[in-house]
Amino acid sequence: MTTRVRIQVEGIVQGVGFRPFVHRLAVDLGLSGFVGNDATGVLIEVEGGSSALGDFLAGLRSQTPPLATIDAVDVTEVAPECGHGFRIVASHAAGDRRASVTADGATCDDCLAELWDSDNRRYRFPFINCTNCGPRYTITFDIPYDRPSTTMAEFAMCDPCATEYTDPRDRRFHAQPTCCPACGPSLRLVDATGQMINGDPVARTVELLNNGSIVAVKGLGGYHLAALAADERAVAALRARKHREDKPFAVMVADVETARRLAVLDDASTAALSDRRRPIVLLDRRPGIVGLQIVAPSVAPGNRAIGVMLPYTPIHHLLLAATVGPLVMTSGNLSDEPIAFDDDEARSRLHPVADAFLVHDRRIHMRVDDSIVRIHKRRPMIVRRARGYAPEPIRITVAAPRPILAVGAQLKSTFCLVKDSRAIVSPHIGDLESYPTLRSFEEGVRHFELIFGVTPRLVAHDLHPDYLSTAYAVDRAENSGLELVGVQHHHAHIASCLADNREPGPVIGVAFDGTGFGTDGTVWGGEFLIASLTGFERLGHLVPVPMPGAAAAIRQPWRMAAAYLDAAFGSEIPDLAVVARNGLTWDTTTAMARGGVNSPLTSSVGRLFDAVGALLGVRDAIHYEGQVAIELEQRTDVHEVDAYPVTVTGSTVVTVVGADLVRAAAEDLLRGTPRSVIAGRFHNGLVAATVRTCCLLRERTSLSTVALSGGVFQNMLLLERCHAALSEAGFRVLTHSRIPPNDGGISFGQAVVAAARDL
Ligand code: ZN
Ligand code: ZN
Ligand code: FE
Repeated sequence: MTTRVRIQVEGIVQGVGFRPFVHRLAVDLGLSGFVGNDATGVLIEVEGGSSALGDFLAGLRSQTPPLATIDAVDVTEVAPECGHGFRIVASHAAGDRRASVTADGATCDDCLAELWDSDNRRYRFPFINCTNCGPRYTITFDIPYDRPSTTMAEFAMCDPCATEYTDPRDRRFHAQPTCCPACGPSLRLVDATGQMINGDPVARTVELLNNGSIVAVKGLGGYHLAALAADERAVAALRARKHREDKPFAVMVADVETARRLAVLDDASTAALSDRRRPIVLLDRRPGIVGLQIVAPSVAPGNRAIGVMLPYTPIHHLLLAATVGPLVMTSGNLSDEPIAFDDDEARSRLHPVADAFLVHDRRIHMRVDDSIVRIHKRRPMIVRRARGYAPEPIRITVAAPRPILAVGAQLKSTFCLVKDSRAIVSPHIGDLESYPTLRSFEEGVRHFELIFGVTPRLVAHDLHPDYLSTAYAVDRAENSGLELVGVQHHHAHIASCLADNREPGPVIGVAFDGTGFGTDGTVWGGEFLIASLTGFERLGHLVPVPMPGAAAAIRQPWRMAAAYLDAAFGSEIPDLAVVARNGLTWDTTTAMARGGVNSPLTSSVGRLFDAVGALLGVRDAIHYEGQVAIELEQRTDVHEVDAYPVTVTGSTVVTVVGADLVRAAAEDLLRGTPRSVIAGRFHNGLVAATVRTCCLLRERTSLSTVALSGGVFQNMLLLERCHAALSEAGFRVLTHSRIPPNDGGISFGQAVVAAARDL
């Protein structure tokens, strides 16, 4: 008696040796069937006796190849076929083709071997790719995903390429972007005026970079600005020309060995770096001189962390193999604009920055930025989801009765489409406040609805009336009859964390972020919500303080120090450097806060970090969102164990007095306690207050699972300590991995809430 099951495996299972592993496992157990990649992962059908099938399912989990990560395994029984043998089938033969536009993948090992093989016809060919690697999403303009629907349509295949393309045994069988030096695109190097630079484009680019020039390099999803990372003069020039004051640059290194000289690597971070999606991995810098010889101080000023990635296109491999060290590779844009991807646009926008342009004639149809991950508990936690991840669908536990568009928040914008139980989150788009970004958002929505064949009936949005995404949703509702579903910002954060973990709730949701519109009209951001996918109740929060100057208080964190010191000390403010530095406007700012003039109330933890950061002299004004919190984390003495006491009270709603932390920090500062120690005690105090609040809510609700979400949880010190302390207090803790904890995850959260409410 044999049974046949269909197994859908989701996770990091493509391009990581998963299919050969499955093949070996099945053959060893004497099972028949097949394995192939499909749009959401790997599809397996396997047939045999029930004990062998049980061993097979157990082996899938326990013997997973090192680079693979399984997120979910769905098993359904199907009719036996009584076939013989076990086969690896070509991707297109397996499974559902609905969502066939997949994410772009890094050059695979087989292609790399050919790239460096002087006997191969694709030796040093900058556009080498195959079924397992290369461009996908970025070159596709229509469905079905087939060569005529991609920007490769302009290149007619030569005979040898066509032979490979039509041979089912070839690894380029139906590889849509396949090509070779005889029939594919070609590279060109031009100077800032558009004049062709003669000679081998790669060799000349390497020469320029090694000599300290800045070169715009056309990549997969847009242009990078490249400079030699060790060259302080070149990196400083790049900063000045790009108008980027101090936000760290990412570097591309040739291999894992070089990464190891720069940063501390363990198995989890090595796996994340080598992942076929090739994200930027934020790593702890290795202290000492060696790192400084390969990366100049201006790359990541004052930062203990450094963003590192490995080459992911053949062009990168060719460059990195020849430059004298790693390259800064930063998005080709001026501050706050979307990454340039169109050739003419790139030329006109980047000519003030780049000395030369390494370009080619394979058009990029959709732009996409580099993705960024951090490692939490030996798992990648994504903080910017873009190239390599988007538009891979994420399976959600609710099946949406009607198709949904969720438009996200305002900063770190993304949108999300849901059809049935598949959520397709757009790549990171940027901050909608800039007009080019808003246009990119609107074009992206149109493109996704086309290529995924989704016609939304519901449009989920933030409650903030001034978000441009909200305005877009209202417009769609008025003009195309979509039904509006408003979702509170922090509910969306917690829902995104629940769905990231495939949990329905209810849980105690801890949402710590910068800003979100609350249902009482104040600015939330330090919230304890009892939340499920469908609803929430606000059972705890930070005590609100005024934000003197509203948006100005976000750009100038010293204003939050003024509001918090006023709350802590009243008119008895001690003699502190932050007061002296901002002397002229300090009193008017305090008066504004007290009088409630242009001073909305906020319970935001992000603003509490701002206050403490300004108090400790981290900075009084910021150049990018979350800068103070990031820099405060960097300056914290991680060995400090003391914690500032915080008042946590309340019977119906628990309130946490953030001003207690500011008072204690100010008093320690006056005593001459080192700032790094104060930062440590602040973090520890906030962690303890969080745990105490969760314990009170557990008594009240009997819930013992906590979900941690919101942009503040990109702070690994806070995340790790909250996680550890909550676990120790007996809580089960849910954190993010596949969806960012910041506002990049809001659209996904809105989408699952809308789906759950529509059931
Ligand atoms: Zn390949
Ligand atoms: Zn060819
Ligand atoms: Fe948020």
